[in-house]
Amino acid sequence: MQGMLRMIHWGPLLALGVISCISISAIICGLQWWPIYTLGGAVNMAIFLMWDVLTLYNLFSSAVVGPGYVPLGWKPEKESDLKYLQYCNQCEGYKAPRSHHCRKCQRCVMKMDHHCPWINNCVGHRNHGSFTAFLFFAPCGCIHALAILIPAMYRAINREVSVWTNVYLDPSSGLSQDLFVVSFFSVSLSVGVTFAVGYLLYIQTFYIYYGSGREPLVQLGIKSFIGCMFAVGLAIGVIIAVGALFYIQMKSILKNETGIESWIIEKAYYRDLDEGEPEFVYPYNLGKWNNFKLVFHWKRRPELNGIWWPVIEGCDQYTFTIEQIKQKHEKKERSVEYTIQEKYAGSYFPITMGPQVCCCPPCTDEPRIAVNPGDRIVVTRWKKRWLYGDKLITDNELKSEYCGPDMGSIPFGQFHIKFINSSFIPRTRRIRGWFPRRCAVEVMNGTYEELINPSTQAESAKRKND
Ligand SMILES: [Zn+2]
Ligand SMILES: [Zn+2]
Repeated sequence: MQGMLRMIHWGPLLALGVISCISISAIICGLQWWPIYTLGGAVNMAIFLMWDVLTLYNLFSSAVVGPGYVPLGWKPEKESDLKYLQYCNQCEGYKAPRSHHCRKCQRCVMKMDHHCPWINNCVGHRNHGSFTAFLFFAPCGCIHALAILIPAMYRAINREVSVWTNVYLDPSSGLSQDLFVVSFFSVSLSVGVTFAVGYLLYIQTFYIYYGSGREPLVQLGIKSFIGCMFAVGLAIGVIIAVGALFYIQMKSILKNETGIESWIIEKAYYRDLDEGEPEFVYPYNLGKWNNFKLVFHWKRRPELNGIWWPVIEGCDQYTFTIEQIKQKHEKKERSVEYTIQEKYAGSYFPITMGPQVCCCPPCTDEPRIAVNPGDRIVVTRWKKRWLYGDKLITDNELKSEYCGPDMGSIPFGQFHIKFINSSFIPRTRRIRGWFPRRCAVEVMNGTYEELINPSTQAESAKRKND
């Protein structure tokens, strides 16, 4: 039931809208163009409906079944294994190998690939197969829809040729408003459609001269014709975009690497190795066919439990998680503390910060954080105009937040606070995200006082001048 609720969201509804628009147009045209009382017509329509059913079935099943979530509060059986795993503060449990926390699902997701807005759910362990099948069947259906729509529209134009010519010649006919709509859509539709329609108008002459005159009639009013043109545009878009996604997914499935893992592997090869440390070997690549079988199978649920994974010889369950922890440490070493000088309210397009900040936003939906003068941020990622980091809060601020009168009885220990240094502690529900670079100044050793206090800065400048 909760899975079904996932479908009530702009992503799945838009996907269903696109599928319906293409299917309905193709069915209306198909029934006229190749009537189903002929054997060929019946087979053609049956195959088209099969694509439709398979696309919808896999779309629903990947949204409803979901990726599988790591149980809340999960930890490995052996206490000694805890040190190889990362802790998730939100789920208050350890992250199983290959799992990642999804901000949108608010859970740790088994073998997380990405959060997909079209299914309003994550793609991961349990729905990787059905999601990829959806990516395969949707373009198949669209190619078939184009094969029906384009010849049918061609017939329609040919049948209506005299009417169309009259319409063009006589602007006083009541259709001029429709004509405006036609030209509007022609402009806004993709270049591909414009070419297709142009080609149709060109070959129509061929049909008049060389057609047998016994071809079935396709009757489309001007509005249905626009609808079909729109469907053709959508179908071309789906074939290109979804087809590309399918290609990317298949490549990663055959390597048994999720999108997130490819990113970690790449960093693993660039990381400076400690002394005597062996080179990193990716543990989950079992060979193309075995990798394929892990995702595509006829069982209702995958055999694996989504926590432990088969690994190649010489690796163990923690080979990958240890690499992740090492990368985290290295990132922490690389991180630089900044202090905020200018207020920023957290807007995605802060107009007051100037056009350069607005025009070069980080291309991600990661959160933006509001900052105030005096705030201290540990920055881990840099863009030309933006910085990404964790906000630091002091002991006192933390105490007033968590140990005030309401929550005084809760011990610190429950929050799994990590100490960065003696006086500053990151908040347990971490505040991290992007903010404009111009708001912040890097904290240099010894100059911190000058940076947070402009008057001391002015004084020290005066001192230097003297
Ligand atoms: Zn989590
Ligand atoms: Zn998610």
